[in-house]
Amino acid sequence: MGVITTRMLKPDADGVAAAADLLAGGALVAFPTETVYGLGGDARNGRAVAGIFAAKGRPSFNPLIVHVPDLDAAQSIGTFDAPMRRLAQAFWPGPLTLVVPLAEGHGLSPLVTAGLETVAIRVPAHPLARDLLAAFGGAVAAPSANPSGRISPTTPAHVLAGLDGKIAAILDGGACAVGLESTIIGGTPLALLRPGGLAVEEIEAITGPLARAGTAITAPGQLASHYAPSSAVRLNANCAQAGEVLLGFGPMQSDLNLSASGDLVEAAANLFGHLHRLDAMQRPIAVAPVPDCGLGRAINDRLRRAAAPR
Ligand code: AMP
Ligand code: MG
Repeated sequence: MGVITTRMLKPDADGVAAAADLLAGGALVAFPTETVYGLGGDARNGRAVAGIFAAKGRPSFNPLIVHVPDLDAAQSIGTFDAPMRRLAQAFWPGPLTLVVPLAEGHGLSPLVTAGLETVAIRVPAHPLARDLLAAFGGAVAAPSANPSGRISPTTPAHVLAGLDGKIAAILDGGACAVGLESTIIGGTPLALLRPGGLAVEEIEAITGPLARAGTAITAPGQLASHYAPSSAVRLNANCAQAGEVLLGFGPMQSDLNLSASGDLVEAAANLFGHLHRLDAMQRPIAVAPVPDCGLGRAINDRLRRAAAPR
């Protein structure tokens, strides 16, 4: 991606409106939450979500937390059972992320959930984050606004130090209050997936004892690798063999193409949707080579996992 000028937006009505317009146009905006600065992009726009991974330089596609203004908005993208609804009512807005099954007609890019059937949702409490979500009027995917492998940013200066020239703007809300990432709850049985800004004891006062890593069926990290096609996957294929469907990259004959023009952002945006569609054909999947640079590294990481023996 080319270098762009990162604008600093003031924490007033004009700044919030400008940030919302940028999000609506598919651009990336860092914004303050009560935990850390988030790197926001339109969660329905695959290219915007791919841009988040590119800006952070993440070597793999792990699922992102989706930020919404309230429980109503959350219920348009996720399905809440009674315990999850109780947690949302008790702690939202606040530093709690709930992992729930995707709702029918959720409209999110499959890249946000890394192809999973569940989505991590949070309602942030920071007034500017709330204003931005209200002004944008949609779900915002936002991991921490730092390059991959660096510590989470709690001031605009931290964000600028890591992402200057890679994102459209930073909404300047000064220093964040908590500085810890959100606590993540999800899975069956209900488990602590990541400790964070909300104490586990407060959550367990509502849910009863939570499963911990090791006892839970699902744990973060493992979860990110869960989506794999049920069909066999063969990598670095230049053409399909008998019976195979071909996932192409660049100008070539194929059943579906990640990006006919060889654009890695477009390829990342299409990755999970195309894999799901080819998998539904119930034939072995051959995948054309994808260059192992930039977003291509994360694409290849995911393809290798999909092709690994199971
Ligand atoms: P970050 O993007 O750095 O804020 O981290 C997001 C965290 O949420 C990671 O630990 C992910 O594994 C976790 N996460 C996001 N979506 C899901 C999901 N659908 N299921 C389980 N964990 C998730
Ligand atoms: Mg992070």
